[in-house]
Amino acid sequence: MPIHILPPEVASQIAAGEVVERPMSVVKELVENSLDAGASQVTIHIRDAGQRLIEVTDNGVGIKPDEILLAVERFATSKLEKSDDLFHIRTLGFRGEALASIGSVSRLTILSRQSEQPVGCSLTVEGGKNGKLEQIGSPAGTTVRVEDLFYNVPARLKFLKKQTTEKQQVNALVTRYALAYPQVRFQLLMDDKPVLQTSGNGKHLEALASLYGIETARQMLAVSLDEPTLKITGFTSPVGISRGNRKEITFFINGRWVSDMGLNSALIQAYHTYLMIGRYPLSILFIEVNPEDVDVNVHPAKAEVRFKQPEQLFSLVQRAVRRALMAYTSAPLVNIPTWKTTLPANNQTAQPVISGLDWKMRADENNPIETGSQPQIGLDAYSNNRENGPDLPSGELPILRILGQLGNTYLAAEGPDGLYLVDQHAAHERILYEKMMRQFRTEIISQTLLHAITLQLPPRSARLLNEQLVVVNRLGFQVEEFGMDSFRINAIPALLADMDPGTALKVLVEDFEEDETPLQARIEDKIVARICKRAAVKGGQSLTPQEQNALLRDLEACQSPRTCPHGRPTMIHLSVDLLERQFGRRGSR
Ligand code: ADP
Ligand code: MG
Repeated sequence: MPIHILPPEVASQIAAGEVVERPMSVVKELVENSLDAGASQVTIHIRDAGQRLIEVTDNGVGIKPDEILLAVERFATSKLEKSDDLFHIRTLGFRGEALASIGSVSRLTILSRQSEQPVGCSLTVEGGKNGKLEQIGSPAGTTVRVEDLFYNVPARLKFLKKQTTEKQQVNALVTRYALAYPQVRFQLLMDDKPVLQTSGNGKHLEALASLYGIETARQMLAVSLDEPTLKITGFTSPVGISRGNRKEITFFINGRWVSDMGLNSALIQAYHTYLMIGRYPLSILFIEVNPEDVDVNVHPAKAEVRFKQPEQLFSLVQRAVRRALMAYTSAPLVNIPTWKTTLPANNQTAQPVISGLDWKMRADENNPIETGSQPQIGLDAYSNNRENGPDLPSGELPILRILGQLGNTYLAAEGPDGLYLVDQHAAHERILYEKMMRQFRTEIISQTLLHAITLQLPPRSARLLNEQLVVVNRLGFQVEEFGMDSFRINAIPALLADMDPGTALKVLVEDFEEDETPLQARIEDKIVARICKRAAVKGGQSLTPQEQNALLRDLEACQSPRTCPHGRPTMIHLSVDLLERQFGRRGSR
């Protein structure tokens, strides 16, 4: 094919691809425009997960009648004049391509009136072709309506995910903007149903509650750091609340939602030793820096940024979060007593191997908490790479003799070949799990409540619970829908009898939210694992010698005693051989 200049429709569709990838990206651009226009009220309405309609209405400054045609041109913006301005951007938009891009892949209608104008103006763009500019009565502000998104780009349509996923993304986006702009009144409707509503009273709780559920929202810790060069505010979860993925980690830089790996790891590092491997905090942090210290023009969708001094920023984020955590709790650390290795830290080859489980011992020099100078045992092979890590032996356990409890968290026991440290929580999870799976194959025992309980859930959780209600009920719950996102609990699994029934159910729903696509085939299995996790004794819980002993006996009876249902180890084995080498009784160094 000879080289030729692409026809303008094709060129603009290509360019649009960078800005509008899915309904969520359209919503993002439109909401950002409303915020740039100084709106105090933004209403978003979507139909069919945004494929049929996305409509954003604001009460901002509006567009001048003679500028509407310009607004839909590529690189037409009122927010930037000269290239130098790019380095102190205070608005969310500046590239002047969102409306043009959206107009080239949908049927776009803009309706706007500035308050000083007697009537408003409307313009329709279809697949990149402008219609007539018309005068029309309208309230002050702007409405942008996007219909039949990607109707002329079938390839793009195919890449859209399930409607529930697209909806969730829109919901997550709007909720986060509502949190970042608490003084703006946000309303989100999906197929005419209200999904989110904030009052714009400047308080965060409404949006936090809709993001995390009211109970979690209440427990979130406030983060606040005020330095000459930057300001950090926001919320982060206490150590007791975590998720199995990073989806609940959000950063806003100067009012813009960005994703940045460096910031993510700085935050996660702040939780080092507080959270189990594979668990992540829930955080939403707002960082204000001098616009000159951050380059926002590195990504067409403006979702990534570059910092002038990333290291300094990361360490301040870490300090801010760490401080919020410390203020709330003194370190709930259980230090493994000094297994004195005379080996240099981080010398992988020279390190002893814990026999049987074949995990490497390693001094954890990255531990930011003062733990003295002794190295700790880290389950490194496990933490680094679960998938490719060593296979855990699953065979039977030898008979163990209980020695006692350490830090109310681990059981120390003696076996024929050395010392065993058993994580009481993980071990109990395993025991309950096997019990419940056995019951599940025959009959689950459930306990009827004397007084049925009604539970109100956030809309998203309610939807998720509804989707899994059949399975939940098969597992010993008796829960029925009660209308308006509330549910009535008549019975709960006997295994959970010690728990508050409302909490028991909520905990399950919370866990649904972590799964993007729960595999229906394995859903029972997963739910049982979750129930057991909640029902199991916790770390920090003191056990009587009889209870300690019973736990060990039950663990010995398990089919896979060495891992918890989530795949984490229930025990560490320190072989006689290892101990001898550690004490210098054997081997040379
Ligand atoms: P950008 O936001 O990068 O400037 P857009 O294509 O998103 O580019 O918008 C083009 C222009 O249209 C904006 O610069 C602004 O002047 C105007 N505009 C868009 N949406 C609104 C709105 N909701 N209220 C007022 N003006 C708007
Ligand atoms: Mg814009």
